[in-house]
Amino acid sequence: MVTAKLYLKPKKEESLKRFHPWVFSGAIQKISGTPAEGDLIEIFDCNGNYCAIGHYQIGSIAVRILSFEEKEINTSFWKEKISNAYQLRLSLGLLREDNNSFRLIHGEGDGLPGLIVDIYGETAVMQAHSVGMHTIRMEIAEAIINVFHGKIKNVFYKSESTLPYKANIAVEDGYLIGECSGDCIAKENGLLFHVDWLKGQKTGFFIDQRENRTLLEKYSKNRNVLNMFCYTGGFSFYAMRGEALRVDSVDSSSKAIELTNRNVELNFPNDTRHKAYATDAFKFLDDIKKDEYDLIILDPPAFAKHRDVLRNALQGYKKLNAKAFEKIKKGGIVFTFSCSQAVNKEQFRLAVFSAAAMSGRNVRILHQLEQPADHPINIYHPEGEYLKGLVLYVE
Ligand code: SAH
Repeated sequence: MVTAKLYLKPKKEESLKRFHPWVFSGAIQKISGTPAEGDLIEIFDCNGNYCAIGHYQIGSIAVRILSFEEKEINTSFWKEKISNAYQLRLSLGLLREDNNSFRLIHGEGDGLPGLIVDIYGETAVMQAHSVGMHTIRMEIAEAIINVFHGKIKNVFYKSESTLPYKANIAVEDGYLIGECSGDCIAKENGLLFHVDWLKGQKTGFFIDQRENRTLLEKYSKNRNVLNMFCYTGGFSFYAMRGEALRVDSVDSSSKAIELTNRNVELNFPNDTRHKAYATDAFKFLDDIKKDEYDLIILDPPAFAKHRDVLRNALQGYKKLNAKAFEKIKKGGIVFTFSCSQAVNKEQFRLAVFSAAAMSGRNVRILHQLEQPADHPINIYHPEGEYLKGLVLYVE
């Protein structure tokens, strides 16, 4: 329901004309009406010309835009958006006999700011990052069921940790539709994994590394692999399929290590090549001998969640990469990543460059990696680009 009209200060409509999907609170001239958080609000320039419609929220991002055309945001709007997203994933070839996990909705990248939906087999896991998406959650869940023609049976809502804590709403994670009983096992490129969307990080799995794991598999043959920050072991089971000699997985969370072990067992029962360690990654790298590994994966959590901690984050990447360069065997490969949205490609590369220089090793870039196509970047919203990685050859 549209409950209010928002008028922008002069010239503040410029970014909307370039389809940027946010209105910052500083751009507001006045609001007529008293919108509640999560309500639909129409936006006008200072001369009263219509600009867009979106979800209103109290905070620095005051409106997340749903449409730049004057249109009603109703059931058919949600269905069309979700159907478009589904068609794109179909055309990317992500729904296959051997692959049933992918991201269906990537916020601004799919024209739906504030909404994330990941698919794991018959279950959709939905995450709201705005009060507007929280308010409309049931309608979205129904649209998902509708669009998938019976292929999705359950919709799990997981937003306790993603909604702004200041918003005056009681959020509880749980099923909106259906319920997955027993173990929930999903498939990625023929490999199986347990997904714990109830307690796990994000929606339960890091789908965004799918293509990068595929590349890693090709480099794994006859190598001793160290998967740092393994979470549920994604890179580890690809390395094993790629005929690695030995794979060690490290994560500070013992829950993650438990899941890694279960996932490796699910794909490679009784395979003695794999070991997992619940410990701090920096300490682990300090303690290992030089030359023990010739393939190291570094996929840490976002070191910079905000711009104001950028400097520390870059130091963190530098320190971590330097430790890996110090220890890796000659002719080894490092897969190194940053998922901090506040750190751009150049800054990350510079941090890795400094690490290489510190270690004195000869380092060459073999590949430059990014987020996969089911995490599309809206060209008008470059902030949506977050995952970057480098594959390095270290001599
Ligand atoms: N590579 C993983 C995703 C990594 S997410 C995948 O492909 O699924 C980042 C992980 O780093 C989390 O599981 C978190 O528990 C772990 N972590 C955070 N700080 C850590 C530290 N200091 N040492 C080891 N692991 C850490």
